Amino acid sequence: MISSNITRNNAGVVCFAGHSVAALAEEYGTPLYLMDEERLRSNCRMYLNAFATHFGPGSRVLYAAKACSFKEIFRIAAEEGMGLDTVSIGEAYTALAAGFPAERIYFHGDAKTDKDIRFALEHGLGCVVADNPDELALLNAEAKRLGIRQKVLLRITPGIDPHTYEAVNTGTVDVKFGVPIETGQAEAFVRAAMAMEHLDAAGLHCHVGSEVFDEDVFQRTCDVMVDFMARVHGSLGFTARELDLGGGYGVRYVDSDPAADIPARIGEVAAHLRALVDRAGLPMPYVLMEPGRSIVADAGMTVYTVSTVKRIPRCKNYVIVDGGMADNPRWCLYRARYTVLHGLRQDGETDVFDLAGRCCESGDVIQPAVTLPADVCRGDLVCVCTTGAYNYSMASNYNRLGRPPVVMLSGDGARLAVRRETPEDLIALDL
Ligand SMILES: *Cc1c(COP(=O)(O)O)cnc(C)c1O
Repeated sequence: MISSNITRNNAGVVCFAGHSVAALAEEYGTPLYLMDEERLRSNCRMYLNAFATHFGPGSRVLYAAKACSFKEIFRIAAEEGMGLDTVSIGEAYTALAAGFPAERIYFHGDAKTDKDIRFALEHGLGCVVADNPDELALLNAEAKRLGIRQKVLLRITPGIDPHTYEAVNTGTVDVKFGVPIETGQAEAFVRAAMAMEHLDAAGLHCHVGSEVFDEDVFQRTCDVMVDFMARVHGSLGFTARELDLGGGYGVRYVDSDPAADIPARIGEVAAHLRALVDRAGLPMPYVLMEPGRSIVADAGMTVYTVSTVKRIPRCKNYVIVDGGMADNPRWCLYRARYTVLHGLRQDGETDVFDLAGRCCESGDVIQPAVTLPADVCRGDLVCVCTTGAYNYSMASNYNRLGRPPVVMLSGDGARLAVRRETPEDLIALDL
């Protein structure tokens, strides 16, 4: 199986975190998002333990809320001792409503509105990551109005190509995020921040991209960032107390994806960074990372019911299910790959099908060319694996479909974490 929390019972039914998907589909209906609490917690602990070992106190792991956000996931992340990376009032509000400590919430975003900035400061969020010089003046004015000194990090674009998909590559010089080093703008950005009386420029932030598998991406990022830290230390007397390396470790969606040994990678990054700052004569900064996908992806699974099987002779076959691009737009957006399982059986003859959804778009495909039992038929269950990241958080109401519920699975049983959206919910905002 693609992930160790997926098994089949003696009857051939897929079990996720030890729970039969047939029983869960019966109880909660489909489409259905499942989340494995134990996996979620162990992924948090994997990072927290590696950070404790290699970086020590003061360094921090921030869960990137955009990967999957609802109150229960924030409660769990808070309990585990994670910090949080948010980019909108909605994410921050949800976290605060879940009791997430404000001090551990970081507020990011490349297009913060005046309202965002006011919200972040009024609610005492621990840190704001400034993306551009416009924000510095606004942050400073708002902090002055509140009579506080706001901690900020400055987002720098290191100019690294992480060799990942274009749509998730954010470290090269021509992207919309952050301030580039090689143009000289980053140094001016630091100087501007240091001049702001009500801002405490605690350090630097960068994020080179998502689905990083190349072993040296974070090392190369450290090379560039420490070089820059040394430059602004010399020219401006600026010392970065914190260095946020962003998120991005990849996960396995299909068998051919490599498995990243994240704790080992973190150990290598720590050793490399320590050597770099020693050589540059700089103090070792507190290090932050912002994993999203690698915290939640393999803690998630989506279960659908087959509506029909369409066979077009000498052309292609479709398995069409009761969800689709509204609950999982990732294949449509960037050809994301997934492992797909028949929920009830795997024996016998197989065939190749495109797994398509119920939305009114020809492109509404969850995954093309998946192998399923040839006798798959209406009423069967289909499981799409590793959907914990960027599925629920990217879900829409296209075709006025209600978003599926999220059921949290643990050793104690199953519980609703997000209920199913009803037709009444869908008209709740309509006047
Ligand atoms: C998307 C993003 C993350 C999380 O990335 P993952 O690939 O989910 O780990 C972290 N930080 C920033 C700034 C991001 O844009």
